[in-house]
Order: sequence, then structure tokens, then C-alpha cells
Amino acid sequence: MAETGDIRTVALVCPECGEKLRAPRGDVVFACRGCGAVSEVTARGLEVVPCSWPVGPSGEDPARTLRIAYWCFHTDVRYGGSDEAGVEHLSRMVRPERVYVPAFRQRSVLAFGDMGLHLTYNPPGFTEGDPDTFSGATMGSGQASRFVAPMVLWRADQIHDVTNVSVDVRIGGIDVVALPARDEGKRIVDLIDGRQWPEASFLDVDALRFGRAG
Ligand SMILES: [Zn+2]
Repeated sequence: MAETGDIRTVALVCPECGEKLRAPRGDVVFACRGCGAVSEVTARGLEVVPCSWPVGPSGEDPARTLRIAYWCFHTDVRYGGSDEAGVEHLSRMVRPERVYVPAFRQRSVLAFGDMGLHLTYNPPGFTEGDPDTFSGATMGSGQASRFVAPMVLWRADQIHDVTNVSVDVRIGGIDVVALPARDEGKRIVDLIDGRQWPEASFLDVDALRFGRAG
């Protein structure tokens, strides 16, 4: 890493195997096409991040499968405050162990609240597949982590008035989950939970398709 004043340049080579990393401009998270290792740009350079590659339903055409990168935050959620009944209720109902935030490139940050951001009690625990690649991941873990606590509070507020409730969200671990999606040309279909994103929407499909044959 060369340092020139405040401007740093990071050599885009895989920290695991030395392969050159190719990605659209602006990406900050990379999946190596050589060894499958995933790394993120940090102040110290490129650092390897754990990544899982859930397998979608069988019978999918690999040529039409895209990988979409999400940050997965392992969370410990605790409530406090003067509303004791509310604290007890929310402690039973909204204590996600994982919160997913998209790492992928979108055409407009205004779309952020509309797609992809969610909590889950049932993480995609499928058999690990062969390492693949993804592209279009422009949001780093630090930036993504700022959405975690507001997301939990937003969900809590849907089932209980949180006026007199406080929430403490601790992040115990961070990794990347590269969810499989089917590229149908005019739309992208998430193979885990079936969400469909029209190509004409805010999703930058070209970035997700970067470097793929055909
Ligand atoms: Zn590599």
C-alpha cells in the first residue's frame, strides 16, 4: 500500500493467493476468481473476510446464476427502559441473531430502504457450494454496520411502541453471504427467499454481472 498524503492506493491482488482482483470501479469487497477468498478494503489494505456461498435449489442453470453479496452481522440484541412490559415483549419477539445488509451496488442510495435489508432467525444454512465470485459490492462493513441498530429498532417499533424502550445491539461477528440469484434478463430472482427485482429498478445489474461470460 502506497501512501501519498491522504490518498492511499491499495494493490488489488488477492491476499490469499496473489491473483489480480477484477471488479467494477467503486467496489470495496472482492471475491477472488482464483481461490474464492473474499477480502475487503480497510485502512490497513485488503483484509480477508469469512464468506459463505449458500447453494440454491437444485436444477438451476449455473450460467444464469448470479451471486449477490450481503453483509451478515451476528447480533446480540437487548432491550431496556422504563416500559417493562414492552421490554419483555420485544425480548421475546424481536431478537434477531443475524441482520443482513446489502453490500451490492445500487443505482440510487434512495432505494436502500426498499430492498434487501432484513433480519432473520433462519439464516440460509445450506450446504456450502464451490467458491464462486461476485461483483458490484460497493458498501464496506463499517458503512453497512450503521444500518443494523436502526433496522432492529424499526422492526421492534412495528410490533410495540418503542417510546420508552431502548435497544442495545452488539455485533459479535461479521461475514459475507453470497446469495444465489437467477438472472432472467429483465429481472433478478433471489433463489433463497424469492424476491424479484426488476432490472429497470435501482439494482445495478451490470455491476452484478461484471466479468461473467456471455
Ligand atoms: Zn485468491
